[in-house]
Amino acid sequence: MRQEELKKRINQYSRVNLISLPTPLLPLENLLDPRQNIRLFIKRDDLTGLAFGGNKSRKLELIMADVLAKKADVLITWASLQSNWCLQTAAAARKLGIKPVLILFKTYDLPEEIDGNVLLDFILEAEIQIREARRGKIISEEEVAGVIEEVQQQVLEWGHKPYIAPIGGSIPGFSMELPLGAIAYVQAGIEIFEQLAEEKVKPTWIVHASGSGGTQAGLVVAAKILSPETKVLGICVSDPREKFHPEVLLVARETVKALDLDITIAEEDIILTDDYLGEGYGILTPEIAQTIRLVAQKEAIFLDPVYTGKAMWGLLDLIEKGYFQPNDRIVFVHTGGTAVLFPHRQGFQSWLT
Ligand SMILES: *Cc1c(COP(=O)(O)O)cnc(C)c1O
Repeated sequence: MRQEELKKRINQYSRVNLISLPTPLLPLENLLDPRQNIRLFIKRDDLTGLAFGGNKSRKLELIMADVLAKKADVLITWASLQSNWCLQTAAAARKLGIKPVLILFKTYDLPEEIDGNVLLDFILEAEIQIREARRGKIISEEEVAGVIEEVQQQVLEWGHKPYIAPIGGSIPGFSMELPLGAIAYVQAGIEIFEQLAEEKVKPTWIVHASGSGGTQAGLVVAAKILSPETKVLGICVSDPREKFHPEVLLVARETVKALDLDITIAEEDIILTDDYLGEGYGILTPEIAQTIRLVAQKEAIFLDPVYTGKAMWGLLDLIEKGYFQPNDRIVFVHTGGTAVLFPHRQGFQSWLT
């Protein structure tokens, strides 16, 4: 299938214009030793332009169109305390006159203060409910079902119409029946291949942090159709591979279905490593802090402590260990999250001495 036909299939889903595309795609020239003989690029999806930017705002262009189509006036979602998804959702909702309700789970031992994304949520006047949770784990749908039900009841009692968006906008469920987030990332994949084609570069790998699966699912589908020689490597940030792999596979297959594509996503198309989970979701370790410092100093780009810092640590370590081939062309996707640097100030102060 050609690019134009794929675009047409994506465009059958309506979107709200929230971000400016394409985001920049640039070479990272200082990070690797030239003797490593690998070309590294960065796709700046941290610069989407909605609130502080990030991959969730691409997804929200399609998800907010669904919210509007369903005539909801309250948007309920959940994630961890400093969630980028929740911030971006709250910002998009406010812009469209919809009230955001966020259920934020304390999955790591950051203080509950008004800082980072929680400060931005507060400025947006999102209704915030903070709940206890297990350290280093992302919240599963099963765990959250009771709480969501309770909040949904409250909203109905206020006389409003809620839309419940699943965490990360990835796995279809609650009010979102289709993998809208992943469909947005098929579009991002097209964008990456187009931008590199202008430079006469064919990427061999796309590497990124994988958390709820939509980003990876979309990129895998785009690669399978437009550039089968390109592999997509997801670096797990929260769940072990064994638990997460079937979820990404499910979202990818749902995406194929939603776009009515003539391809099959095999298990081995979903490439994931969980070697870089460290101490678990959202927990800053010395390796992540040092990677963030290295990229800031070499490239003047700030990664985030929860996703991209961890993924870049993984990528650089894999390069070091010879996982890639000489002449490989690797695109690292900067998926956002930089506002979360600030609440981690103590961790940075202790690890970067
Ligand atoms: C949510 C998020 C991811 C992971 O994307 P998924 O589509 O949920 O896998 C990566 N990076 C950042 C900064 C995020 O906020």
